[in-house]
Amino acid sequence: MMWRRHFGVRLSLLSALFVAAALRPAIADNDFAAQRRDMVEEIAAVARSAAAESGKPAISAAVTAALARVPRHRFVPPDQEHAAYENRPLPIGFGQTISQPYIVALMTDLMRVEPNHVVLEVGTGSGYQAAVLAELAQSVCTIEIIEPLAVEAQRRLQQQGYTRVRTKTGDGYYGWEDCGPFDSIIVTAAASHVPPPLIRQLKPGGRMVIPVGTAFLTQHLLLVAKNTDGTIVTRQVLPVRFVPLTGGH
Ligand code: SAH
Repeated sequence: MMWRRHFGVRLSLLSALFVAAALRPAIADNDFAAQRRDMVEEIAAVARSAAAESGKPAISAAVTAALARVPRHRFVPPDQEHAAYENRPLPIGFGQTISQPYIVALMTDLMRVEPNHVVLEVGTGSGYQAAVLAELAQSVCTIEIIEPLAVEAQRRLQQQGYTRVRTKTGDGYYGWEDCGPFDSIIVTAAASHVPPPLIRQLKPGGRMVIPVGTAFLTQHLLLVAKNTDGTIVTRQVLPVRFVPLTGGH
């Protein structure tokens, strides 16, 4: 009798522990979902207050929905998880950063991605921007110059079910000929000039969003549009701060 009671207590304690362990990820994910909703609201507020400068008072519904779906906390190092949904860039190792959510939202919106589009990203980093694009496009090709970052991003994207993203290690200055031509291109590192190979790989009617300027000093986000007749029109959107585009060019 004694033994049975003792055994019963042990068993229920064990099962309680078991249930707690099983619930923990669910609780954490709910918590992150709430943080993600707050992040989306903050992006909307920042977009409103930056409207005069950016010319864009609101982020489109499609981009907002994409940001509300991608688990940003799964794209940052474990010690940054707590800050994943704050509206600021975070370190991802190798001196690189995952961009600030508002900037991700603005750049993605400027690309005007449609469900049948093929898009290119230069600077995979964590893979987060590629995941956001994969929510909107038919396929995403993304290039990263630092191999361990490229490998880790590919693993993450696969694990999160982003099967429409192709990753490659290399110098994105030269684009990715075999993946293109592209409906739009996003460059997430600051270049000294708009790389001509990227202009060539952009479809007529396509758009490129790229920070251009001196490393860590004055940089501007540029929107480069290729008209249907092949002519190029450029507009300065916002002053920004990005890590530099490296490579041999
Ligand atoms: N889009 C990323 C942010 C990346 S930060 C994200 O969502 O996390 C910019 C990235 O560009 C860095 O990882 C850096 O290594 C990469 N990079 C810099 N120069 C590059 C080049 N020439 N070709 C490809 N990637 C480059």
